[in-house]
This record gives sequence, C-alpha cells and structure tokens, in this order.
Amino acid sequence: MRPLDRAIAYAVLDLFYPPHCAVCERPFGDDERAFLCRECDAKIERINQSHICLCGLPLPEALDLCPACAQSERVLEQIRSFGWYEEREDPDHVLSALIKTFKYGGERALAPLLASYLDQAGQSLRPLIEQITFVPMYPEDERQRGFNQAELLARELGKLWGIPVVRAVEKIKKTKPQASLSHEARRENVRGAFRLAKFTPCASILIVDDVCTTGATLRECAQVLKESGIARVYGLTVARAANIRRAEGV
Ligand SMILES: [Zn+2]
Ligand SMILES: [Zn+2]
Repeated sequence: MRPLDRAIAYAVLDLFYPPHCAVCERPFGDDERAFLCRECDAKIERINQSHICLCGLPLPEALDLCPACAQSERVLEQIRSFGWYEEREDPDHVLSALIKTFKYGGERALAPLLASYLDQAGQSLRPLIEQITFVPMYPEDERQRGFNQAELLARELGKLWGIPVVRAVEKIKKTKPQASLSHEARRENVRGAFRLAKFTPCASILIVDDVCTTGATLRECAQVLKESGIARVYGLTVARAANIRRAEGV
C-alpha cells in the first residue's frame, strides 16, 4: 500500500472507532498501527506458495501436477490463493473472520489489507497479466450489499500493480449461495450465469475473487472470457476453502 493510501485508510478507520485489531478488537499499543494485531497476524494460515499445483493447491514433494490437473483440460492457466478459508464460525480463523467482516459487515476499509494478500500470493502471475477483472455479482444482489467485494479487491490490486482493471464479465442469472450447495450442484448452479461485458479484450487476464471453493465460479467466468478470444485466463483469490484441500481440476 502506498503511504498516502495507508494514511487515508487509517483516517477512515479512526473516524469510526479508535484504532483496534479488526479481528480480536484488542486496542492497539503505541507501536502497533495496522488492521491486525501481531497475535492475529501470526494466526493466519497462509498457503505455502513454494510447491503448488496449477490449480493453486499444495502438492506432495513427488508430484508436479495433481491427478485432476494432469487429466483434465484446463480453462484457467493457474489459480493462486493467499490462505485458507473456513465457512464455519471460528474466532481463531483470522483470515476467514477478516473476509466475513469485509464482505458481510461492509467493512470496505479492509480492501487494501486483503489486496496486499492478493499481491503476495499473485507475485508469480503478475508479469503474465495484461488486464485484471473480477467475479461479478448479480445487479440486484450488488445493490443490496452496496458493493461487490471482488471488484473492490481487483481495483486495489490494479493500483498496486499498475495494471488496468476492467469489467469483463456480467452476471445474468441469480444463483444460490455456493456455500449452501454440494460439490456437484455448485457447477450446475453457476452454469450459464455469466456473459461477456463490453470491453476491449487483451491476450491474458486475471480474475479476482475473495474466496475460491471448488473453483466452479472462476471456471465459469473463465469459459466466457476464453470464448471471447482471450488466450490465457488466471485466477487469484484471497482464500481457498479449507475443506477442499485435495486438488481438483482447474
Ligand atoms: Zn487481534
Ligand atoms: Zn492441480
């Protein structure tokens, strides 16, 4: 984050409440000045980016690809995610708590922090990307929430990387929350839910989202983008559902 952005973000936070940790709400000491206290930051379960598959899941030492990626035709070149996500309420699961506060609690001031996680997890993708886009919301849902969390994250990342952010995909079908569905039903739920928006495509684009569960939503968006002639589509999310630690096709 640039110093000015950081200063503005803190000023906004200070306006609403005195500086305290966004997760455990412990007031900061004089030397702590961030969104998270040191204890909460240390609790974040980061995904080790050193030996991971194209689908973004960790691999055993002996493998270069997970069985699913080795077999299936990939719509996405690669997916990267910063840390693990737990659907169930767990106050010790700091990254999940941050995402829920951001998304459902409307705490938009957390966007720069979460985008800094995207920046860390997406370093290897950065040189490959010409445009950044985001998973769109159904217009009525977006009006209700007041913002699209994926778009805020994409726009913050675009500032960090100096890469243009475009609205490349639109959501044209109201879908059920993916979290409420079984693995198979998720794919069916998002099928045909997206269409291409009006924009000038390039050769390689990155889709940003907050959480990747089975990857069905990212794949469906990627499919739409590929059909428009974009050669390479990548995915980057803040978190990956921890109950899907086994690899599956991208
Ligand atoms: Zn804390
Ligand atoms: Zn894989």
